[in-house]
Amino acid sequence: MERTLSIIKPDAVSKGVMGKIIDRFEREGLKIVAMKMVKLTKEEAKAFYSVHRDKPFFDSLTDFMSSGPVVVMVLEGEKAIERNREIMGATNPKDAAPGTLRHQFATDVEKNAVHGSDAPETAQREIAFFFSEQELV
Ligand code: ATP
Ligand code: MG
Repeated sequence: MERTLSIIKPDAVSKGVMGKIIDRFEREGLKIVAMKMVKLTKEEAKAFYSVHRDKPFFDSLTDFMSSGPVVVMVLEGEKAIERNREIMGATNPKDAAPGTLRHQFATDVEKNAVHGSDAPETAQREIAFFFSEQELV
C-alpha cells in the first residue's frame, strides 16, 4: 500500500481547521498511520524544502514553515500520493478547484494550508525526515 507525507501548515493550524483537514482525509479513505504536531526550526524547514533552495521564495517559505506548529502525518492508501494531491488542489489557491483543501483553506500561494509528497522517492525521504520505523503503526 502506498504512503505519503502530509503536512498541515502553520496557517491552517492557526486558523483552527486542522480537524476539518484530518476529517477530509479520513472521509476519503486515506488511513493515518503516523501523526504528530511539531514546530520546525528555520534550519529544519530549510532542510525539508532543500529542493527549493534556489527559488526566490525559499527564505520566505522557510520563515513561514517555521513560524508556528504544523501537523505532520503519514497517509496510507491505494495511490495515496496522487489522491492526496488531488484532494489538496493546485499550489496557488487561485487555481485550486472548488472542493479542494487549498480552495477551502489556503490564504495565498505560500500560505497554502497543506503539503503533500509529489512522488514515491520524495514520499520516502519526507516520511523518514519526520518519523522512525517504530512510529509508523
Ligand atoms: P508542497 O510541496 O508544499 O506540497 P506544491 O508541491 O504544490 O506544494 P511546490 O512547487 O513544491 O508546490 O512549492 C512548495 C511550497 O512553496 C508551496 O506549497 C508553497 O507553500 C511555496 N510556494 C510555491 N510557489 C511559490 C511562490 N510562487 N511564491 C511563494 N511561495 C511559493
Ligand atoms: Mg512540492
